[in-house]
Amino acid sequence: MKSTMMAVPLSLNHLLERAGTLFGGNEIVSRLPDKTLRRHSFAQYHRRTRSLAAALLNLGLRKGDRVATLSWNHHAHLECYFGIPAAGGVMHTLNLRLAPEEIGWIAADAKDRFLVIDDVLLPLYRQFAHLYNFERVIVFPFSGAPVPAEFDDYEALLAAADPDGFNYAPHDENDPVAMCYTSGTTGRPKGVVYSHRSTILHTLVASLGDFWGLRGTDVVMPVTPMFHANSWGMPYGAVMMGVKLVFPGSHLHPEDLLDLIQQEPPTLALGVPTIWMSLIQAYDASLSTGSPNWGRWQLPRGMKSLVGGAAVPEALIRAFDRHGIWILQGWGMTETSPVCTISYPRAELREASQDERYRRAAMAGVPVPLVDLRVQGDEGPQPWDGQSVGEIQVRGPFITGSYHEVPREAEKFTPDGWLRTGDVASVDALGFVKISDRTKDLIKSGGEWISSVDLENALMAHPAVAEAAVIAIPDPKWSERPLACVVLKPGQTASPEDLGTHLAGHHFAKWQLPDRYEFIDAVPRTSTGKFWKMKLRERFPA
Ligand code: ADP
Repeated sequence: MKSTMMAVPLSLNHLLERAGTLFGGNEIVSRLPDKTLRRHSFAQYHRRTRSLAAALLNLGLRKGDRVATLSWNHHAHLECYFGIPAAGGVMHTLNLRLAPEEIGWIAADAKDRFLVIDDVLLPLYRQFAHLYNFERVIVFPFSGAPVPAEFDDYEALLAAADPDGFNYAPHDENDPVAMCYTSGTTGRPKGVVYSHRSTILHTLVASLGDFWGLRGTDVVMPVTPMFHANSWGMPYGAVMMGVKLVFPGSHLHPEDLLDLIQQEPPTLALGVPTIWMSLIQAYDASLSTGSPNWGRWQLPRGMKSLVGGAAVPEALIRAFDRHGIWILQGWGMTETSPVCTISYPRAELREASQDERYRRAAMAGVPVPLVDLRVQGDEGPQPWDGQSVGEIQVRGPFITGSYHEVPREAEKFTPDGWLRTGDVASVDALGFVKISDRTKDLIKSGGEWISSVDLENALMAHPAVAEAAVIAIPDPKWSERPLACVVLKPGQTASPEDLGTHLAGHHFAKWQLPDRYEFIDAVPRTSTGKFWKMKLRERFPA
């Protein structure tokens, strides 16, 4: 017997057409470099995106050609998300926070044919232009200034193209639509290539009620960069549901974000913990009467926020909840589209105490549908008992099975076809994953593991601590010992003894406590805004 269902391929083009047909009146708001707001309707967005696709075909784009983007979060980047695949191309988001040499290397590795770039990022382009020759460089006049004559003008190309005469490139659901490189914190960056099918499935799953819970009335502010891990896939979900979007552009300082939240209050905002930490500190500081920002902002109560990309400290979840904002934590990686788990209040937690809810919210969460997850120990898969620890391995239709033009390495994939994430975790009986570390950040002391994440979360719960990162330093007797690098809040003090006493109240065994504290000005950040422990290890080698 055969199924009678149509073999219609899953396709991003369907989402774009749907947005144009159904949601034409909804808004896409972008903050420009001069901080003014630019508004487009979804009807304009739909026409402009079709124009972009037609323009790329006019330039000779062929199926499977890579078109790189080097852009902040704004409407034109969203046009690339759908317009490049609509023309049969593959959008390759370049990470503007990487070193110029690395960007040039990645563009060469991907063999990008065209580049779409914000005019404000041309100084960065000029630093790697000698490393790789794009056939066309298309400049988006984000600042409004005229585009230098040596480049193609994005707006002029769109104006010359015919959106009505454009026809979608024929495609299969497994054809590629986008690619993104891993950050290369553990080796050379590697390309991950997403398909129509993987992207649609990921979008549908992530949008479900317990996760993003997208509704047509939502106002979504993605602070997560569109140049990394598809901004967690939110651009696709937002177009699918026609929700109002508010893009922060290049202005990511806490005061700028708070101003934007004030102007265009979101119902859902996405960001990484480091940015959310500085945001809540700036907000809380503005509430004291002596503050120059007193009364300037009001956080939207009832807003939902998705935070992930690194462990979310419980103290951060509590700090937002004090203002009526609930944080949902997600875990995933470039290789996984990226959402794999989300921590949400399961039915079993309905009667749970508030402390228990916070504790769960500070975990990585429960695997989303279509993701198989196991915790692999030395002796095989570990039981979901909340105790047994091993490497997280995942499998599913939106998880990469290889890397772009890299031979399949045993280091990244198991013989039975699971992705090795390099994250060490346990899972409890309710399916909540608790990440204790990345393999390379684990601290091994006297044959026992110490979780740096647990120590950091406990330290960040101390009222005087703004940020904390714990690293391993070599020790002749114990092999490694934890060293805590601590950033204090402005005007606050705490001694190593205070912090030791505070940690001792958090159920740590004595041997797990750091025996050294370093007070630093700031924790160095990676290109994706995470704590960069490698830099701390270099700074404190012993
Ligand atoms: P990179 O960190 O090298 O930039 P990715 O952006 O793909 O690469 O990040 C994936 C990694 O981020 C995961 O393997 C994990 O270590 C970390 N991560 C993501 N979300 C969380 C989370 N909620 N808790 C702890 N770690 C997380």
